[in-house]
Amino acid sequence: MFYSRWETQFCEMIAVGDEDGLAILHLNTGEGKRTFEISDRWTRNDVFFSDVRAQVDEYMAGRRVSFSLKLNPQGTTYQKKVWQALTEIPYGQLVTYKTIARAIGNEKASRAVGMANSKNPIPIIVPCHRVVGASGKLTGFAHGLKIKEELILHEKLMGIYHGLFDAFGPQEWWPAKTDFEMMVGAILVQNTNWGNVELALNNLDGGLTPQRLEAFSEEKIAERIRPSGYYQQKAKKIKAFLTWYAGYEYQIGKVRERDGESLRQELLEIHGIGRETADCMLTYAFEHPYFIIDAYARRILERVGFEMPKEYDACREKIENVIPKELMIYNEFHALLVQLGKNHCKKNPNCNGCPIGAQCNYKERTFA
Ligand code: SF4
Repeated sequence: MFYSRWETQFCEMIAVGDEDGLAILHLNTGEGKRTFEISDRWTRNDVFFSDVRAQVDEYMAGRRVSFSLKLNPQGTTYQKKVWQALTEIPYGQLVTYKTIARAIGNEKASRAVGMANSKNPIPIIVPCHRVVGASGKLTGFAHGLKIKEELILHEKLMGIYHGLFDAFGPQEWWPAKTDFEMMVGAILVQNTNWGNVELALNNLDGGLTPQRLEAFSEEKIAERIRPSGYYQQKAKKIKAFLTWYAGYEYQIGKVRERDGESLRQELLEIHGIGRETADCMLTYAFEHPYFIIDAYARRILERVGFEMPKEYDACREKIENVIPKELMIYNEFHALLVQLGKNHCKKNPNCNGCPIGAQCNYKERTFA
């Protein structure tokens, strides 16, 4: 037998198998009831598992929804029948043990199905994490409930992302002409819409550069940005931001060299830069991916059925823990949620034609 081990966003993976197929995929979470040891009789062979590794990595990156691999799980005939039924559960969907029991021809065998489910040696590829209790409770998972919850959230969020991307296409955000306009725009858009920001930016035009704004008094900036509302407060914030940016000689490359976390802390210390504004600048100007929890994201994800912690960073981290850490995905995801929020998921939602309607049970919950 051969084995291979590698790190993923969720945990270390260990694959075991031979020419007959993949026999084990161990999720090395350090949690759950399953014990596992690499046998002295196995030989490490990463090349042998290159296809397994590539497909699992693609799944983790949100680019794969099913697997095409030769499998050889060891178990009883009954267990193999259950595992085969598990492979029929579509990506992003949850079913109950009873559903699987019915699929294999014995509706009353939920308990036996649960037992076979817990012995599945190839999780993720044979998606036993998509089976939950009748009440929707996660019940058990051999590698710990934490990763089960993360895998479910991962599929749900990436399903939303792909549904929106397929419907709306690339959004190519931020809607600003330059990186500096994006930074100023992130301040101006606080408590208003982008249309008003554009009016304010037009008043500042003639080349929106840090040097030009530096030459303007706070009063002059306030006068020009009046259409964005709260213009006196925002002028003060822009001046404070400029002072900070001058510390980097107005060179965005120097800011981008900083690591994301310390840069975020620094931004949050500037007058008028809150978490949402900082995360917009980090994602769209400074190339550090942070998931932006704005009113659209919170409203849509709550309606879809995602439990959103009230506290901003707890909510952000919960999402960031389960989606691929790719700048492009963060960039598009936020823009796509805004697009959905403007077109369908308004305060009074227009669910007809919503591209993620099939994944959302808001209507059923609200009007049941
Ligand atoms: S189906 Fe309706 S409530 Fe759900 S995300 Fe779409 S617009 Fe919003």
